[in-house]
This record gives sequence, structure tokens and C-alpha cells, in this order.
Amino acid sequence: MAVLLYPNCGIIFHGSSGQRMASLNFDVIVCGGGMTGLAVAAQLAHLDLTVAVLEDRRPQPFLPEQQYDLRVSALSPQTILLLEQLNAWHRIQTMRSCPYRRMRVWEMQRFGDVTFEAGDIGRSELGFIVENRIVQTALWESVEALPQVKILCPAACRQFDRNAGHMVATLEDGRRLTAKLIVGADGADSAVRNAFDISISRREYEQSCLVASVATRSAQQDMTWQRFTPLGPQAFLPLLGSRGSLVWYQKRDRVRELAQLDNSELAELIMAEFPKELGDIEIAAKGSFPIQKQHAKTYVQQGVALIGDAAHTINPLAGQGVNLGFQDSTRLTEVISGAMIRGKDWSSRAVLLDYERQRRWANGLMMRAMDGFYYGFSNNNVPLRWARNGLLAGSNTPFIKESVLRYASGLVSSPTDLLYRKKC
Ligand SMILES: Cc1cc2nc3c(=O)[nH]c(=O)nc-3n(C[C@H](O)[C@H](O)[C@H](O)COP(=O)(O)OP(=O)(O)OC[C@H]3O[C@@H](n4cnc5c(N)ncnc54)[C@H](O)[C@@H]3O)c2cc1C
Repeated sequence: MAVLLYPNCGIIFHGSSGQRMASLNFDVIVCGGGMTGLAVAAQLAHLDLTVAVLEDRRPQPFLPEQQYDLRVSALSPQTILLLEQLNAWHRIQTMRSCPYRRMRVWEMQRFGDVTFEAGDIGRSELGFIVENRIVQTALWESVEALPQVKILCPAACRQFDRNAGHMVATLEDGRRLTAKLIVGADGADSAVRNAFDISISRREYEQSCLVASVATRSAQQDMTWQRFTPLGPQAFLPLLGSRGSLVWYQKRDRVRELAQLDNSELAELIMAEFPKELGDIEIAAKGSFPIQKQHAKTYVQQGVALIGDAAHTINPLAGQGVNLGFQDSTRLTEVISGAMIRGKDWSSRAVLLDYERQRRWANGLMMRAMDGFYYGFSNNNVPLRWARNGLLAGSNTPFIKESVLRYASGLVSSPTDLLYRKKC
């Protein structure tokens, strides 16, 4: 019988009459090898726990001449610090990333207009725009180098069970894995969340967003901007070279129509509808995404924890989605580490609830803030128009600017921390 050996992992074999099904025993099974799943696997490995990562699809390897990925993220300084600690940031820098130093938010044809600058919080940049596939690839390479982690790919999970104090994951090909804890990092349609009957509150917005990867004639590589119009926001995220990613919120039917246009027709329309600052563009690729908000009613059960989009999806308005997911993985690891030091059962619901208490509140707050922006700005109501323009104009005061930036950068995790810091 061939024996599969993974460092520090117990191996049990089941089956009879020539049918061999390895049951692999780990401390933690992470379902989903996306950005947050790989991050938490690396963080838990640093606690010397053995981890299996189950992922359906390996990210496409990076090639410099490769088309830009349509899915890009604005990574906050806190996320970059984490990626440095996980040995992934230098890998990203050898691939593609674009720093941005300014962030402008304004309303079409109104007086509210604010530009945040990295210097407002004493930094040289506010963050970096990086393609999701590149973040995933860099983390994948870092995790592959860790002896405590085994990535199983392709590995689609078929079933999850709780069995005599153990968590069991069964794969499509019949392999069974056991662990003390299953982490669901398997995205918005989480199979882990469904298997353990964790319900969600969910809201589909009336709009979708059209995303386009573009080449721009004018260089504007140090600024992200977002303009609010009564029909919905328009945004630009800079990418390396004279490139960028455009996001255009519109009614769902309209986005469907726009996605059907050929690239040059769409480029003409965008140049007519977007702010003149954009200048001439050529479209390299386009796609559309539904926007939705969903929040798991609980993040944990005995032996189960949800992180990232499996726990919450947020309006992509301020590009906070994956940054919140990385904060989840860090907090979960800290809670587990604390329980290990105190000799407690780190996979127990009582311990994991501490993670939920800290993260569910903070994520909910960010969701409500995004909703406030989204609904507050996407209409023509006159009192609201005055209020929001006053808000933008007021944001030009140094204290508010600094506070907004610290919160958006992940340098503090809640507005109350800001007040506390100020008193200190
Ligand atoms: C248009 C748009 C723009 C956005 N912009 C930003 C931004 O600027 N900044 C930002 O921070 N966020 C942004 N987001 C959000 C961000 O993309 C998500 O929050 C992030 O991808 C979530 O990461 P995740 O690892 O939790 O989940 P995912 O990225 O969904 O990864 C889940 C992984 O699990 C795997 N998987 C799923 N089911 C199984 C299974 N049963 N078995 C095995 N593997 C499985 C999948 O293959 C996938 O690799 C944006 C989202 C959208 C839609």
C-alpha cells in the first residue's frame, strides 16, 4: 500500500478489497484556496498547526505579457503588512502592482469634492492596486513552501460532517480528510456555510457593475477616483503602465446591454459618460458583476469558522472586501493562538465566538457605511444632495481626512478606536 506522507500530518487509511481511500488527518482544513483561505493557512502554519487547503482551481501562472485580470483589489497598508509577513509581498512586486497616492471622491456638477493624499497620514502611498489572481498566486507560492501546509488541488469538497468530535471533509474523488477545525474560505456561495446550515441575510442591489480593463492615453497612475452621479458611481483604479480598471454602476439591464457592445463602441460611450479627467481609452477586456450584500448570521460553530466572502460580501464601492477578509484571518489566528497558550480547546465554539464577536461587528459597520454612501449618493433628493455635498466638503478638514484615511487603510479597525486614539 502506497503511503502518502505529509510532515506532521497523521495518515489513516480506510477501505477494503483493493479500494483505497486515504483519510488524511490535519489540525485544520481550509476549504477554498483564494486570497483569504491561503492567508489563514499560512498564519495558522506559523502556530505550528498542520493545515490542508482544498481548492478547486489553481490560479493561472503569471506571465508579464498576460492580459490584466478583470478582478483587481485596492490593498490597504494593513493588508500589505500582512502580505509582507507572509512572504507574499515581494513576490507580488516581482509581478505587477500599482501604488496610488491620492484618492479623489466627488459628485457630478456639485460642490462636494475631496482628495485624500498619502501625506495626510504621513505615508508615501495610500495602498496598491493589484490583480486578485496575482495576490492569490503570490500567497500560493508562499504557502507551498510551508511544510505544515498541504494544498490539495484540484479538490472539490462534496460533503462536510461532524463526527465523534472530529470534523470530516469528503472530496468529490472520495478522499476523506479529518481535522479539529474546518475554515470556510470558499467565497460567497460557501459550501461550508451551507453544509452547517448557517443562514445569511442577503440583499441584491438593483444595480450591477460593469468592469473594464483599459489603456489610457494620459498618465494618471497615482490616483484612484470615484465620481457619484444620480445613476450610480463611476470609478477608476490605476494599474501599471498607462492602464487602469474602470467600474461603472448601472441598472442591471443597462449593464447587460453595455456588456454586449463591442469594445470600441463601449469605449466611445465611456469617454462620453465618464469625467473628462479619464481622457481617451482603449478597452482590453470587460465583464460584469452583480453587486450584493450578504452577511452570515453567525461566523462560527463548534469546529467551524467562516472568513472572507464566505462570511460577508460587501458593496465593492470602496474596495474593502478582501481587506476585511484578511482582517478576519488575522483575528481568527490570534484567537486560536491565545487559546493554545491558555491550554484551551482552540476549536471550541466558546473560543471561536471571540473571533465572531470582534469581526462580525466590525464587518457589519463597514457594510452599513458602504450602504450609507451608496444610497445617500445615488439619488436626486435635494436635502440629501445638500447633506452629502456638505459631507464631502467637510471631509476637507484635516482631522476628518486623517480619520477617514486611517479607517479605510485598516490602521484602526473601528471609528471608536479613532476617538480613543484622539483622547490619548
Ligand atoms: C467588481 C468587484 C470589485 C471588487 N473590488 C475590490 C477591491 O477593490 N478591494 C477589495 O478588497 N475587494 C474587492 N472586491 C471583493 C473581493 O474580490 C472579494 O472580497 C475577495 O475575492 C474575497 O476573497 P475570498 O478568498 O474570501 O473568496 P474568493 O475570492 O471567492 O475565493 C474562494 C475560493 O474558494 C474556492 N472554492 C469555492 N468553493 C469550493 C469548494 N467547494 N471546494 C474547493 N474550493 C472551493 C474558489 O475556487 C476560490 O478560489 C471586489 C468584488 C467585486 C465583485
